[in-house]
Amino acid sequence: MTHPVLTALGLNDTESGTYLGNGEWANAGNAGTLEPLSPTDGESLAKVHATTQSDYDTIVERAQAAFKVWRSTPAPRRGEAVRLCADALREHKDALGSLVALEMGKSKPEGDGEVQEMIDIGEFAVGLSRQLYGLTMHSERPGHRMYEQWHPLGVVGVISAFNFPVAVWAWNALVSAVCGNITIWKPSPKTPLSAIASIKICNEALRKGGFPDIFFLFNDAGTELAQHFVDDKRINLISFTGSTKVGRHVGERVARRMGRSLLELGGNNAMIVDASADLKLAIPAIVFGAVGTAGQRCTSTRRVFIHESIYDDVLAKLVTAYKQVEGKIGDPTDPANLMGPLNSPEGVKEFLAAIEKAKAAGGKVESGGEAIDRKGNFVLPTLITGLANSSEVVQTETFAPILYVMKFSTLDEAIEMQNDVPQGLSSAIFTESLKAAEQFLAAWGSDCGIANVNIGTSGAEIGGAFGGEKETGGGRESGSDAWRAYMRRQTNTINYSDELPLAQGIKFDL
Ligand code: NAD
Repeated sequence: MTHPVLTALGLNDTESGTYLGNGEWANAGNAGTLEPLSPTDGESLAKVHATTQSDYDTIVERAQAAFKVWRSTPAPRRGEAVRLCADALREHKDALGSLVALEMGKSKPEGDGEVQEMIDIGEFAVGLSRQLYGLTMHSERPGHRMYEQWHPLGVVGVISAFNFPVAVWAWNALVSAVCGNITIWKPSPKTPLSAIASIKICNEALRKGGFPDIFFLFNDAGTELAQHFVDDKRINLISFTGSTKVGRHVGERVARRMGRSLLELGGNNAMIVDASADLKLAIPAIVFGAVGTAGQRCTSTRRVFIHESIYDDVLAKLVTAYKQVEGKIGDPTDPANLMGPLNSPEGVKEFLAAIEKAKAAGGKVESGGEAIDRKGNFVLPTLITGLANSSEVVQTETFAPILYVMKFSTLDEAIEMQNDVPQGLSSAIFTESLKAAEQFLAAWGSDCGIANVNIGTSGAEIGGAFGGEKETGGGRESGSDAWRAYMRRQTNTINYSDELPLAQGIKFDL
């Protein structure tokens, strides 16, 4: 029987994973099947037919043809198309949020929140469609005008991770659409249904509004077609969200063909709690940051540095809070639960392996440390003390609710430890000291793409540019001027004089 959450979105228990454009979904081919399993009870949610090589080629050809029309559609008109998508997503927010919760395993409010992000970035993109500004420069030559303009790139490829099965696509696709591009999406094989539902909602809205196909979808049962996508010269930009391991490979392959890539990779985010911190703010921020989405956010808090003068008190408060969360772990679609399962049984194995490594390195489990003995991929949120920041397990992103708690005596020491990891995504300080806050934000402070004061590491608003440094990949998505990654810059010089002066005063007398 089709799951009621799927029925609410018009999905069946067997779906095509390939949107070919023109309202057509591909028939089953010989590319195999994906079978997303419920993280809550391990049951199959539906079957999704993966995409064949020939259907992939049809998609790319149609995307290239669509680009020729879309690039000359005025940007504010492109914004109107995105507005219709945002409206349709708002209409389906409850159902799509439930599907995200069901398929990924995050809580219902977080599933709804993810759809809200899609709506918000859509609205941001509508405004942006009238603000794709270029600069005007003063030419050094008389009677010359110089300016720059931004043109669409072409076909943009989005490869996304399982933990944000819909929002990451929207950050990319809706901004990319107003920039004049066509987007082809390859979602995570763990969350294909959320992707199919999103594409159906948006494409239906576009067709009703008389707009052409600007969003395509394909699914890969393995990684062969995804690899081909990465190597495909017809894809002008690959925006990749996922682990540093796969992202490094993707970045290298795209660079080899001189393509563009935008990389949003793993994080190892830390929070500093100094002696003056307001613990009424800091404790919930730490717990939400480490436990929310069962520690499966790229911005999840993985390390916390506590000033030695308040260390014992903060640790005791954290242990108490963790015990409260333990009573509210369960079905993520039930709004009463604070924490759902990990997305997959592999995630549970990685969680347990990290705990063993931590113990072997001298770590002490202060709370949690075990999988929960019941159906589904449930684990206990875990606090570990006694490890140095330099321990291998602390230096590694484990995509699970494990928090390493460490002590510091000076702010310099805390900032140094915070920065001393390969990743550079999100960071935060809790302090009432203006000096400490400003030092944390200074050029010699946090080296991360995101640095917050009295706000946790986890999550971000769509208005800012999102991304991180070092092995997080350096890409920026979402708000601010992140749209520039989806466009090509052209510098134009126009001579309206009767002379042909050369730049830098060079003489070339014929
Ligand atoms: P993953 O790297 O295993 O997979 C990501 C995507 O890459 C999937 O769609 C997968 O099918 C695809 N893929 C795998 N091999 C490929 C290949 N050879 N060529 C092309 N594509 C390939 O990551 P995951 O487990 O889905 O997600 C968790 C990771 O994502 C974590 O490290 C997390 O920090 C990171 N993440 C980062 C951000 C960010 O914005 N920085 C956001 C979300 C998740």
